[in-house]
Amino acid sequence: RGLAVGVDIGGTKVAAGVVDVHGRILAEARRATPGQDPRAVESVITDLVRELSHEYRIRSIGIGAAGWMDLSNSTVLFSPHLAWRNEPLRRNLEKLLRRRVTVVNDADAAAWAEWRFGAGRGESRLVCVTLGTGIGGAMILGGRVERGRYGVAGEFGHQIIVPQGHRCECGNRGCWEQYASGNALGREARELAAANSPVAQAIIAAATGDDAAITGALVTRLAMEGDPASRELVDDVGQWLGLGLANLAAALDPGTFVIGGGLSAAGELLLDPARRAFGRNLTGRGFRPAARIERAALGPEAGLIGAADLSRLLSRSGT
Ligand code: BGC
Ligand code: ZN
Repeated sequence: RGLAVGVDIGGTKVAAGVVDVHGRILAEARRATPGQDPRAVESVITDLVRELSHEYRIRSIGIGAAGWMDLSNSTVLFSPHLAWRNEPLRRNLEKLLRRRVTVVNDADAAAWAEWRFGAGRGESRLVCVTLGTGIGGAMILGGRVERGRYGVAGEFGHQIIVPQGHRCECGNRGCWEQYASGNALGREARELAAANSPVAQAIIAAATGDDAAITGALVTRLAMEGDPASRELVDDVGQWLGLGLANLAAALDPGTFVIGGGLSAAGELLLDPARRAFGRNLTGRGFRPAARIERAALGPEAGLIGAADLSRLLSRSGT
């Protein structure tokens, strides 16, 4: 019946699922991403794939990896959040699993899923931005994932939006993902908590004395529960998001932006300020059509669904 396993490897978690041809998830499993060891990441992936292919007949396996894939989808050239440097990930996984494996960038996978089954259906120029540990970016132009000349197009998270701003794992300063990602939200919240501001009392209480527990995910949850300070922090991130999207619109002129990743769970708390900042910063505003900004319909699962679906397509074409 054409079932595929999709695995989404992010900076904090590895999510895997069995996906059917309609993009539905039949079974799912997840683990924390093991720190700085590529071998450990590989064994988590192979464990999850084996676990899921126990009960289902799997036709293909797709991996969405938070890293820069070369054009042949064999090598992770670089990853700001994981230990991959020129890592032959496809070959390693094929050896371990003794099967063909397709590897793509995690944001490319999410964009593909949203274009096929989600908020980007029918869009001829779709730009997808995923907000998690970092910011993932991808474009689907005319029904194709646009990879650029060397495979690394769409690294929008590393556009420099604040010269001399916060240091980024990529080596530069002021990257967009230092201002509009889950990590950015966590850092801002930790700063507020460290100032011991009475405003931050709900955040401080939720962290129960453990600074490291103040993450983007925690602040997103508190914002959804109504905590005013967390809502302000999400609002700030939303404004940075909108500013970056305005830059992308100037360069790419898409019809739709789809916003995915863990932070998109905040919904309108995030998207409303993003739309306002987008409208305020869009070049030629008032004299040009403006792109729609939509939340990913498949939520944080988009990545694994897209990886699975792309594996069905690409395992036929040989990449
Ligand atoms: C990486 C991208 C990745 C994104 C989301 C960024 O820091 O450069 O390759 O897609 O994070 O995981
Ligand atoms: Zn960067």
